[in-house]
Amino acid sequence: MKKIIIATKNQGKVKEFEVMLAPLGYHVQSLLDFPNSIDVEETGQTFEENSILKAEAISKEYQQMTIADDSGLEVDYLNGEPGVYSARYAGPQKDDQANIDAVLTKLENAELNERKARFVCALAISVPGQQTQTVIGTCEGYIAKERKGQGGFGYDPIFCIDDSGKTMAELTKEEKNKISHRADALRKIKDLLK
Ligand code: IMP
Repeated sequence: MKKIIIATKNQGKVKEFEVMLAPLGYHVQSLLDFPNSIDVEETGQTFEENSILKAEAISKEYQQMTIADDSGLEVDYLNGEPGVYSARYAGPQKDDQANIDAVLTKLENAELNERKARFVCALAISVPGQQTQTVIGTCEGYIAKERKGQGGFGYDPIFCIDDSGKTMAELTKEEKNKISHRADALRKIKDLLK
């Protein structure tokens, strides 16, 4: 069986990868299986650069095929912010509610048609001795004027999906998993791995 490491400690993400990769004959491990792994600093200017940094560092450390991700929110009115700073937009404490408040405040004067935004997920796949490959998944939408819904995490309560007007936080897990930026990126990387 081919082995692959997912460079994350997030159990939810590991599950998503497992579901996709097990039928392709991969045995999936994650950083939960390597508790003493190095901490890779996300110093890149783009999601893609950060995913490459993580995938290459971990594949080098364990000499194994590794997939790493980096994701976040881009708002056109804010010239692409919060971008790679999505998790810590309101400060190093990584507070989802404070991050949402920061975005809503900066968009106070923006009309609905000026609030276009997208979630982005970059995935990098690194194999020792080979050129790293990347894919980018996106989910288009716009920023609501206020929070709606209880599900999801991060910016989900203010991220509206284009045609329904619902926020991501109003979707079931299954509904979100079909249309999310991560699902889009997973579909693309699956094609690479086949
Ligand atoms: P990470 O790359 O998974 O660590 O995500 C970085 C940050 O982007 C998170 O802390 C969230 O603020 C935001 N983010 C990424 N994916 C999502 C999502 O699916 N919904 C809401 N926020 C997200």
